[in-house]
Amino acid sequence: MTIFEKSVKGRKGFKLPEGSVSFEGKDLPDHLIRTRKLALPELSELDVVRHYTELASKNYSVDKGFYPLGSCTMKYNPKLNEFLASLEGFTEIHPYQPVETVQGALQLMYELKEALCEITGMDEISLQPAAGAHGELTGMLIVRAYHLSRNDTKRNVALVPDSAHGTNPASAAMAGFEVVELKSTKDGLLDVEELKKHLNDRVAVLMLTNPNTLGLFEKDILEIAKLVHEAGALLYYDGANLNAIMGRFRPGDMGFDVVHLNLHKTFSTPHGMGGPGSGPVGVKQFLARFLPVPLVRKSKDGSYYLDYDLPESIGRMRSFYGNFSVLVKAYAYILTMGEDGLKRASEMAVLNANYLRKLLSKYFKVASERTCMHEFVVDGSEFVKKTGVRILDVAKRLLDYGVHAPTVYFPLIVHEAMMIEPTETESKQTLDQFAEIMGKIVDEAIKNPDLVKSAPHNTPVKRLDDVTATKNPIYRYQ
Ligand SMILES: *Cc1c(COP(=O)(O)O)cnc(C)c1O
Repeated sequence: MTIFEKSVKGRKGFKLPEGSVSFEGKDLPDHLIRTRKLALPELSELDVVRHYTELASKNYSVDKGFYPLGSCTMKYNPKLNEFLASLEGFTEIHPYQPVETVQGALQLMYELKEALCEITGMDEISLQPAAGAHGELTGMLIVRAYHLSRNDTKRNVALVPDSAHGTNPASAAMAGFEVVELKSTKDGLLDVEELKKHLNDRVAVLMLTNPNTLGLFEKDILEIAKLVHEAGALLYYDGANLNAIMGRFRPGDMGFDVVHLNLHKTFSTPHGMGGPGSGPVGVKQFLARFLPVPLVRKSKDGSYYLDYDLPESIGRMRSFYGNFSVLVKAYAYILTMGEDGLKRASEMAVLNANYLRKLLSKYFKVASERTCMHEFVVDGSEFVKKTGVRILDVAKRLLDYGVHAPTVYFPLIVHEAMMIEPTETESKQTLDQFAEIMGKIVDEAIKNPDLVKSAPHNTPVKRLDDVTATKNPIYRYQ
């Protein structure tokens, strides 16, 4: 039932002192004055609390249960960081305030920038982009500005591996590049021979993520970087998932020139369903002059200021200075974890992924037998052939057991893929339980396939008709 259907005429959730406000709209122009009564639901405070509590209980979140959504790093975000971001000193400031009055906020941004430079091995960072894909676009525009600044106008090709996150080719195309796809080796790595064939004086950039979307470390990365640079192109690092490498190794040391991060995956901001994100972009010194303006800087007297004096900047990517509350959480996370803590988080993320990979290889083929990083991909094609149950069905059946499904049918190079990222914040018991549930579902798929094919059975919403939802979407309640 919607909140409008629960409305009872005349019911109220508040009481204002009589006559404390009187406003008849006299000072407003006629066309701004409402002619009809606003159709608001009429409910008591308790009605409203119950309504939203019920909705919240129908929702699934990482605070409710295991959420192994590959490539998304749905890890636990410490509530302490939420508390810190909600402090009045952070929430009650305005971006138009004179900089002398917001020195603390600028200091936080400056120090966060320094920490992220240290973590990524980059020299300068913009905190402005509001999401991963937004960071990619920013990075691609910087690549473009760099080549144009050298009058190297024919470089209009962006090379992207076939295993890449879909936002990579999309961002490159948005920045005006022609996207050329590179085939992976059968082990799921970038094919160096294939790369050599494609490198020429039209290539502007190679976009990579390492570990890649199969959760594998591109072991030839130093050679790849050398080849790309010798060909006059730049190397871009999709750092959306830094969870496997924080404190262990740095994109800057692997030869990358530009990197974006997803603070809302690795650095303590809950995400999913379109909440505020942050996709800072870091660059090596020779690209710093192209970053979006303004940059937060520190003057000799120790005060902080906003530097707009970058004549070659690609311009603004977003209003103001980024999603500030996300920056506060990332800063708090980095400080509370410390260097050792971040390193340990990566180690545990990788250990958890490998432990679960081993457990699940009892039931499924794993796309690569190699030790994985923070995530791994299950290749369900044999399972599908044997049982007639699809990986989508397995994903839906997991919901009945109170677990969020992993990412399915991605990366595209593995058929019937299931991409699993347990993250460092899950216990061994949770991983064991998940593997046990998977075992049960495999068993059901053999003995009672219809049960799995018609799942979910216990959720507030049953199986959706994906095709109709895509072809004939209904966005509003009618
Ligand atoms: C999540 C993700 C992105 C995109 O990030 P958004 O914030 O959703 O735009 C890009 N690349 C990889 C590898 C990702 O996992």
